[in-house]
Amino acid sequence: MEKKLSVVVSCYNEELALRQFYAETSKVLKSLSWDYELIFVNDGSQDGSIEILKELASGDEKVKVVDFSRNFGHEAAMIAGMDYSSGDGIVCMDADLQHPPECLPGIIAKLDEGYDVINMVRTKNESAGWFKNFAGAAFYRLINILSDVKFEPNASDFFAVSKKAAKVLKTNYREKVRFLRGYVQNIGFRRTTIEYEARNRVAGESKYSIKKLITFSMNTIMCFSNLPLKLGIYAGGFAGVLGIIMMIYTIWSWAEVGTPSGYATTIVLICFMFAILFLIVGIIGNYIAILFAELKDRPIYIVGETKNFPDEKE
Ligand code: UDP
Ligand code: MG
Repeated sequence: MEKKLSVVVSCYNEELALRQFYAETSKVLKSLSWDYELIFVNDGSQDGSIEILKELASGDEKVKVVDFSRNFGHEAAMIAGMDYSSGDGIVCMDADLQHPPECLPGIIAKLDEGYDVINMVRTKNESAGWFKNFAGAAFYRLINILSDVKFEPNASDFFAVSKKAAKVLKTNYREKVRFLRGYVQNIGFRRTTIEYEARNRVAGESKYSIKKLITFSMNTIMCFSNLPLKLGIYAGGFAGVLGIIMMIYTIWSWAEVGTPSGYATTIVLICFMFAILFLIVGIIGNYIAILFAELKDRPIYIVGETKNFPDEKE
């Protein structure tokens, strides 16, 4: 039987890019040896994205649409696309054509060779700007130091997995605070990488603000490493040693020159110690927030409506 590729595309306010994305990607998909489905996940766009998607779906049965009830974020959109996919291989792509559809034949070739995880590694990302590129590199360096699991630097949300690998991601990685890229790189199986050059965004603007990226990076580090939690132990040890040194010094100076005034020292020490203390409380707080999110077990996403899936109720 002919194999099928599921292409999962998350869209958030992408009305300017969608038609071009559809045209270019379908052209490449039609030339492939595999059958395909193009699953668009509309992540609560406030612009005309959903109308465009519905129109594309009514003209092409290979286009399927999952419409979220509101914005749940890129991570939720990717896992939803996987949940709804029925292919033998799944590719996640962005809707802005930064992930070039020309890479798809290469991906199919690797899937045919029997690889289960294909990481697409960016060699160049012009449109991201120096700050995002630098911060991205720093993030990967930090997480590789802090975490036991190893991350491929420059890995992106562009990757492909076999049905077997997708099943693991769908059933065993339903964390609420998520980092799909991290799971993909750490489930094992036969893996390979393909290099690609990220194109410029065709239209519209990046949906990831610096603030979103910082929150996301912090959560990811805490999801993949417990080391920040141990900071308290080190800080405690450090403060203890410092305390002993200060005590010896105080006793010595009291015996030698009488009681020291020490106002400046006291203020500096108090500020410094409280800074460390609050930092650690904040870190613990963030872990508790993640824990709480998992405990509440609310859905990762809520679907309002779907289009072109076989058993949908309308
Ligand atoms: N995206 C999404 N939900 C969001 C933010 C972004 O589905 O809340 C989608 C967006 O439409 C795009 C992809 O995720 O297809 C990547 O976003 P973007 O291109 O803005 O990020 P960048 O490439 O700048 O990192
Ligand atoms: Mg992009």
